[in-house]
Amino acid sequence: MAKLSRRNFAGLLAAGATTAPLAAYQAAKARGLKIKITDLKCAIIGGSPVIRVVTDQGISGYGQAESRKQYLKPMVLFYKDYILGEDPTDVERVMLKIRRMGAFKPWGAAVSAIEIALWDIAGQVAGVPVYKLLGGKIRDRVRIYNGGVRFPMSGHTPQDYAETMAKMKDAKEGFTIIKQAVGFHNGAMIEAIPNAWYDGPRGGAPHPYRGMMTERGLNHVIACVEAMKKVLGDSVGLALDCGPGHTLKDAMKFAKALEPLNLLWIEDILTGDYTPYPNADQYRDLTLSTTVPIHTGEQIYLRQNFKDLIEKNAVDVIGPDPEDVGGIAEQKWIAEYADIHNIQMAPHGVFDGLIGLAAHVHMGAAMPQNFIAFEYPLGSPDWWYQIVDGLPDPIVKKGFIDVWDKPGLGITFKVAAAKARLLEDDRGFFD
Ligand SMILES: [Mg+2]
Repeated sequence: MAKLSRRNFAGLLAAGATTAPLAAYQAAKARGLKIKITDLKCAIIGGSPVIRVVTDQGISGYGQAESRKQYLKPMVLFYKDYILGEDPTDVERVMLKIRRMGAFKPWGAAVSAIEIALWDIAGQVAGVPVYKLLGGKIRDRVRIYNGGVRFPMSGHTPQDYAETMAKMKDAKEGFTIIKQAVGFHNGAMIEAIPNAWYDGPRGGAPHPYRGMMTERGLNHVIACVEAMKKVLGDSVGLALDCGPGHTLKDAMKFAKALEPLNLLWIEDILTGDYTPYPNADQYRDLTLSTTVPIHTGEQIYLRQNFKDLIEKNAVDVIGPDPEDVGGIAEQKWIAEYADIHNIQMAPHGVFDGLIGLAAHVHMGAAMPQNFIAFEYPLGSPDWWYQIVDGLPDPIVKKGFIDVWDKPGLGITFKVAAAKARLLEDDRGFFD
């Protein structure tokens, strides 16, 4: 192997070298930099867990977990002792210490956020944007899809869904793909008519509904989808987030009825959110039964748990979330393996926040050609946009985000403004 230098670094990556962390380390070493992890911190900022990996060289890396995981702080800190003293630019060596200590939500989320923060450091140390360390970009702008820009609805009839879809179509982001929750993923839709399914409403943990639909319930959901599709026509793609909890035969009937509509995908109709197993065999039966692309994967942790889905061609599209799957290099690996099986990528991300958005952009830039789009995360609350620097303005243009070239993730905190948003427990987060 040729001697590593900044000059031939890009060439090595282009040749498919698997030495990206090593190259980052060499670049740092060439500049006389020895770097070690000295701390791992987690703060809940606006309901969103933010991870900071601190080093002895004044460089910090940031990662984020989904905004709905405010409880994650102790899980992040659990991994601290495993990574202290390590060189953060040897990303894979650090990950070997903690990856197998993760699991499906919530532990995998903590591991994922740490992985993203390590890449942020590796990029800064090497002086390159993270996409270079993931193999380099193959596209200058990445397509996003809308799963989070929503408008108040007056009801849950097909007409109501047509009206809200028209507003999303006209949104300033110029979305080319819109995803809408239906079926068990949208309790309000099926609660709007009596006896939509043979079990009944349940409270508690997210997405608790399950069972066989009645004919009336199934017809109502199909009518809502038809009304939305009529508004979008063939200019904006429509994807549906559907479950989990539907029976295989209901899923088959649902997909068959919607075949004339040329949907982009039907997502998580059998298993999905907060369902800690992939269920590849049933997904394969569904996928073989219909021309509508079938999608799953947002809750899955690690490449091993995608093995059956991919090798059995059990679905047409997978949507690992970088903040749950184990991070962005993990996601890249899965994307490449999916690609050689002709499975497409549409990563989940609606709750991933603005640091998560940066991670998606770098990963999306480096994805193979099976990349469709990632789900656009929103800053929430709105003041999140005021506490970070580095994002384009506007962020989205005609449904795409231009890939930026700043080192690392290229998103940094405006520390004074961000400090003002810290909770009492997290006061020392930026110190
Ligand atoms: Mg989903």
